Amino acid sequence: MSSSPTRVLVLNSGSSSLKYQLLDMRDSSRLAVGLVERIGEQTSRLKHTHVTNGDTREQNGPIADHEAALKAVAEELSRDGLGLDSPELAAIGHRVVHGGMFFTEPTLIDDQVLTEVERLIPVAPLHNPANLTGIRTAQSLRPELPQVAVFDTAFHTTMPESAARYAIDPKIADRHRIRRYGFHGTSHAYVSRETARLLGKDPADVNVIVLHLGNGASASAVEGGRCVDTSMGLTPLEGLVMGTRSGDLDPAVIFHLERVGGMSTDEIDTLLNKRSGLFGLCGDNDMREIRRRVDAGDEEAKLAFDIYIHRLKKYIGAYYAVLGRVDAVAFTAGVGENAAPVREAAVAGLEGLGLAVDAELNAVRGDGPRLISPEGARVKVAVVPTDEELEIATQTYALVEKNSR
Ligand code: AMP
Repeated sequence: MSSSPTRVLVLNSGSSSLKYQLLDMRDSSRLAVGLVERIGEQTSRLKHTHVTNGDTREQNGPIADHEAALKAVAEELSRDGLGLDSPELAAIGHRVVHGGMFFTEPTLIDDQVLTEVERLIPVAPLHNPANLTGIRTAQSLRPELPQVAVFDTAFHTTMPESAARYAIDPKIADRHRIRRYGFHGTSHAYVSRETARLLGKDPADVNVIVLHLGNGASASAVEGGRCVDTSMGLTPLEGLVMGTRSGDLDPAVIFHLERVGGMSTDEIDTLLNKRSGLFGLCGDNDMREIRRRVDAGDEEAKLAFDIYIHRLKKYIGAYYAVLGRVDAVAFTAGVGENAAPVREAAVAGLEGLGLAVDAELNAVRGDGPRLISPEGARVKVAVVPTDEELEIATQTYALVEKNSR
């Protein structure tokens, strides 16, 4: 009796990188993981780990483009007996950053899907082209294999119009596809569900504020498993203070920088996306370094930290109001999972909202989801590690399974 294939390869193509994981969906275990960095440069690097036997291999040297990168990854997988030609491979799941309003769920990729992802390039100029290259290369290597697009924006398509629209002329907004799309959707979906599980409840019965705090950062208000608001907007620039992005600011800052500061649109774009946030405020974007500096009495780092926390606290308050009833606040991603001082400061003074952190529980380090609020707290505060690759693999596999029935 032949059994159906159970492996899913997850590809996350960035502008100059390719991250991948091969998972076996029978038990969601990882078989291989890796990363190609600095694609297109002389100093490209491929780091591949065969998880099952713990072998790690590295290749250094130029990798010209995403096609060459994926071919190199395919060779590494083959060396471990896990090649793309394996009959056990059920599908490839691609992270696609921008799905606009069109894609509300994981989607089997065909020409029409590719055309639509291409049409969204103007609203995701850095990400969607790289995602498309990843998809096309994978298709050329295994043309008959199902390829699934899992969109960062999809989880947020449930936002009501009142949250998704900006207060500008709808005709102009529609003509240019301007609205709040939100990002990090696979993470918000995964973490809100895992938080419900941690509380021992059905996601449909739980309201959660998810704080995804990585180098990019976003908050979401999730009501009964559905996103009703999120902090990123047309692009991932809006919302929280991030590693290098400013998050919210008065749009007039841009006119001012142009008219009075004499900066070009591209220069302002670079300033706000790459040279702002924590980095712009204090020269560091790594929270570990910032905390080290704060603890050493550095005033600049302290102000950057305080601005970061102030914004975070405002979003907790805003989403509390949006949801009306909050069962849990969940911290996730690099900063959220690791930086106890950020979690402590973000909820400090919110006892009136039923929010508090137990200092001892907050200090414990661990890999799994855990509560850090005091025993019996009205609103639970949790640390819930995100796993975007597992979520992409799960959604990809579920779609392929459904289609094969
Ligand atoms: P991510 O984008 O989710 O990979 O998160 C990356 C960020 O997490 C880094 O830029 C650091 O600021 C932060 N981070 C990682 N580990 C720690 C840690 N142990 N303490 C504080 N921040 C951390």
